[in-house]
Amino acid sequence: MHDLLLRSCIIKLMDSPYISLYRKYRPQTFAELAGEEHVTKTLVNAIKQGRVSHAYLFAGPRGTGKTSTAKILAKAMNCEKGPTPEPDNTCPSCLEISAGSAVDVLEIDAASNRGIDEIRELRDKVHFAPTRGRYKVYIIDEVHMLTTEAFNALLKMLEEPPAHAIFVLATTEPHKVLPTILSRCQRFDFRRIGTSDIIRRLEHIAESEGIEIDQGALVLIASHSQGSLRDAISDIDQLMAYCGKTITMDDVAGALGLVPYEQLADFADLIVECRPADALRMIAGLVDSGQDLREFVGGLLGHFRNLFVIKSTGAEDILDLPEEHLSRLRNQADAISVPALDHALALLSEAHNEMRFSSNPRLALEVVTVKVVRSGGAEAVEERHQRKSRKEEAAAKMPAERVKAKAAGAGGKETEAKVAEAGVPQGTGTAGNGEEAVVKTPAERADAETRPAEMAPAAGAREKAGGKGADSEQEAAEVPEGLSPAKAHRAWKPMLQAVKKRRVPTYSLLLECEPRTRDDVLVLRFNKRAAFHKGEVEKAANMRIVEEAAEEVFGTKVRIECELADEDPAKLEEAPPELLPETDMPSHHIKKVMHEKFGATMVEEITNEE
Ligand SMILES: [Zn+2]
Repeated sequence: MHDLLLRSCIIKLMDSPYISLYRKYRPQTFAELAGEEHVTKTLVNAIKQGRVSHAYLFAGPRGTGKTSTAKILAKAMNCEKGPTPEPDNTCPSCLEISAGSAVDVLEIDAASNRGIDEIRELRDKVHFAPTRGRYKVYIIDEVHMLTTEAFNALLKMLEEPPAHAIFVLATTEPHKVLPTILSRCQRFDFRRIGTSDIIRRLEHIAESEGIEIDQGALVLIASHSQGSLRDAISDIDQLMAYCGKTITMDDVAGALGLVPYEQLADFADLIVECRPADALRMIAGLVDSGQDLREFVGGLLGHFRNLFVIKSTGAEDILDLPEEHLSRLRNQADAISVPALDHALALLSEAHNEMRFSSNPRLALEVVTVKVVRSGGAEAVEERHQRKSRKEEAAAKMPAERVKAKAAGAGGKETEAKVAEAGVPQGTGTAGNGEEAVVKTPAERADAETRPAEMAPAAGAREKAGGKGADSEQEAAEVPEGLSPAKAHRAWKPMLQAVKKRRVPTYSLLLECEPRTRDDVLVLRFNKRAAFHKGEVEKAANMRIVEEAAEEVFGTKVRIECELADEDPAKLEEAPPELLPETDMPSHHIKKVMHEKFGATMVEEITNEE
């Protein structure tokens, strides 16, 4: 008796090895297929009308239900109660197909051995009638991997398929499938499954399995799966092994090395609000908690990509995110300028690549953070200080304020230097140092929150008319209202690119000049020997292009004048050398070296006016 019990137990154990959740919850009916209604509707109609094709191509990313659909189709055609769009899943035929043991349904994985033998065998047997069901269904997965020989054999079968054969070719790379094959198949494109569909499916599984899983965890898993339901379900499997039947967002973040959305959004807030010190503190916290920093930067990159989509297109639907995420993204997109966003994306992407090889990912993250803040923040801080100097005319005359105003231009550099030195910078509020220029006081933060538009680079320029009254003041020379030397230099490279985009010869002419400012005029200063270039640029056709480019970059019309280097240089304002951008022309430093070493004639161009 005991023996018998034991045997049955063993048999039971052997019979039911652990079945992965994905296999267990593989969709068994067309209705259960998540998010591919455009496919299932057509197939259901074809089955109802008895117009099922002999060859289908299921194209789409992995884990989107191609093989599952093929199997449901096989069941629909061979179900004892069929052909029916709703196979019963209880008859022997359905059960065999579900278990993968049906003799009439053959699955071939072209990826594993490129299919030569299978296709040959298939070709030899395809004409025999099905053993049990009505149809022989051949599911060829990753069909693009077949060898040429196998492809040709397949093509022969598709040219004259027996009445009882149905071919389902599945592929993640339809462009690699020969056109002669494509032309013989009815094609269905499987889409990535939407986050909300995946979440719904996961909720169903969790409920059936008695798993407690919070919403944040579900969102995180769903977005990590990038539209692959199979990956999402496998993640749940993995998480159950890791933390049992209660799964929280922190578990998900920890086990899968993912970054919770809130963390990314909080960090992005710090960047958008120009709070580098707080951002670095947060990085320290991430390091303490053992967060994978490269994963974090990857998450940030995704977050800024979402900001980019919202800012530049407003197409929130393609982001496929829950409303609370979207509303935070909207606020951040409002608060950051387009150039700052472009720059942030470029920097983060670069950092993400570099971190793969970096032995000190923390430093890499800190540096990129400060750089990103600087690119988005310096502009805003400059605008703010300009506005301040207008508002507080009296206060602006105080020496401390002048130091501050100067720091607004060069502060970013100083802050970065500090970071490199100290690892983590000091707190906010120390008046007069470089950090003051970038880090907002709480009052300023509140100010910025009510005025998100001031992040836009053009804001200061637009307001310049109102600021002209300050011209007589000494401060006005240091922080000109519309067009500061720093601003002109920063804008120069984008402006060159904007000209190049319109007309390359005009761009070449501009390589011979340097940007300066006089009051609100952008002065293109040509070397004495470049009088020809100056004359060309001054021609109406070229000047129009330059003006257009300037308007694009500055966001407002800018008056432009050309002059030769010896035309009263004393009037021109020089930007501090560290602010000079890299341009396509030799840098100031190179010119300086040229002069010092070789006595080159450009010396008057780099006269330090201090
Ligand atoms: Zn059935």
